[in-house]
Amino acid sequence: MTNGVTRREFLGSMAGFALLPLEQEKPELILHNANVCTVNAAEPRAQAVAIARGRFLAVGSNSDVLNLAVSGVQKIDLGGKTALPGFIDAHSHPSEAGRLHLRMVDCDLRSIPVIQAALQERARKTPAGEWVLGFKYDDTKTEENRALTISDLDAAVPDHPVHIQHRGGHTAYANSLAFRKAGIDEKTPDPPGGQISHDPATGKLSGRVAESANGYFDKVIPLNFTREDCREGVKLISKMLARSGITSATEAQGVPEDLRAYQDAHEAGELMYRAYCFINYHFLDQMLEAGVRTGLGDEWVRVGAIKLVCDGSISERTARLSVPYEGRPNDYGILVMTEEEMYSAGRKAHLAGWQIGTHANGDVGIDTTLRVYERLQRESPRRDPRFRLEHCTVVNDELIARMKALGAIPTPFSTYVYYHGEKMRYYGADRLNHMFALRSFIDAGIRPTQASDYPPGPFEPMMALQSEVTRTDSKGNVWGPKQRITIEEAIRVGTLHGAYASYEENIKGSIEAGKLADLVVLGRDPLRENPSNLITIPIERTMIGGRWSFEA
Ligand SMILES: [Zn+2]
Repeated sequence: MTNGVTRREFLGSMAGFALLPLEQEKPELILHNANVCTVNAAEPRAQAVAIARGRFLAVGSNSDVLNLAVSGVQKIDLGGKTALPGFIDAHSHPSEAGRLHLRMVDCDLRSIPVIQAALQERARKTPAGEWVLGFKYDDTKTEENRALTISDLDAAVPDHPVHIQHRGGHTAYANSLAFRKAGIDEKTPDPPGGQISHDPATGKLSGRVAESANGYFDKVIPLNFTREDCREGVKLISKMLARSGITSATEAQGVPEDLRAYQDAHEAGELMYRAYCFINYHFLDQMLEAGVRTGLGDEWVRVGAIKLVCDGSISERTARLSVPYEGRPNDYGILVMTEEEMYSAGRKAHLAGWQIGTHANGDVGIDTTLRVYERLQRESPRRDPRFRLEHCTVVNDELIARMKALGAIPTPFSTYVYYHGEKMRYYGADRLNHMFALRSFIDAGIRPTQASDYPPGPFEPMMALQSEVTRTDSKGNVWGPKQRITIEEAIRVGTLHGAYASYEENIKGSIEAGKLADLVVLGRDPLRENPSNLITIPIERTMIGGRWSFEA
């Protein structure tokens, strides 16, 4: 069903590509009778594409393209179905998430008994006394409308330690045996910057820990991923992304193990998306010593930006704001790095030719990050540095004008309005009209991207399109309607803009002759669909480099 391209085959194809001008190449595959939305302004619609050596050879009408057919060419009639360029998720954590999926129960489930059953099933397959681990649990998504308790977890799994991470990653839930293993009892004081929750009625452990209290568990949970595990994780997430129509993704907090995992998976023919691998700034000196910078690699695995972190999170309400959170008059969120720390790491990276991507959610975080970028560019101007603002959630006109002047790229959460609607009330109606501000960015001539931040946000591109076009959550509440964009704009954001954010707009992001043959075939045309039903459009096939990575 799925087949990747090994490094050797890839290098072979590049050598051939260099020798043969496109015009003289013979097509290997023709897709015809399709409704092709090319995202190429010069030729927005087409009916057919010819493909050779992993690239589009020709894009045009049925007759023009079928005229190129030679003997032996494979022809596929797409039956009038819509084809778009493959989606590009410009901020996600796929390699990391793949590893977690290998080892942990996916607790993105809708009731406590269903979560309990999933944990029990994993416990049955786990040797006695070993950890049962879960992730992607969200207390606001279960029908009981209350959080998991220590007794829920003890009842489900009494004889293994159980530990479940919240979807946002800042809190966790555990059973009694896990608390004993972590050395926590009901008299253990809260650590600085952390919390061990207690049942207000009995004073007993509630099962929940937050922020730095997670450290007690980190010390005792054995998560020793081997090199093979890391490769397996990429293989697993590759299949998940291919099913959803994604052909490229940014690893937004990559470490050297991720780069290695990508190379290993690619060599094994298991990598089914093109990875732009950011490097966490803790590894900057090692990278500089090795002479590595942004752009090294090929169109399958490429070194991305250096990653800095300015402030906190939107879903867990620690982003740094100029106006406090609704109903919490003294809570402005937190700054994680100081401006001087960001400047000193950023300067090293900037001088060495790295792109910089800084996590900045709140308006104060974005202002601080822009000040650092402006200073770097003033002191050491570089042509086309494409500074990135990862998330770039809460903005205003002044910040947008500075982004435009700098050529900075925002990567706002694409699925949060739809999926995390219940958390939006903490920001207030007025502020919501300046969050995930795609309308404002596009009107200012800025190129925002599609970005899931998976696991915290779902990665399905159809959910992203619906969220961006309707600004409506899954329960029908509308959040920040002034930032709605059109479906055509949302598709461009999810394809060509993502390619631009990784300096790859000349090789992917649209269906044009010469570009990589990455595309997705949909069950229905999103341009004719009721915007509130976009999420129900099935992904029928995904193609990467001229080969199907998924077929329904
Ligand atoms: Zn992230």
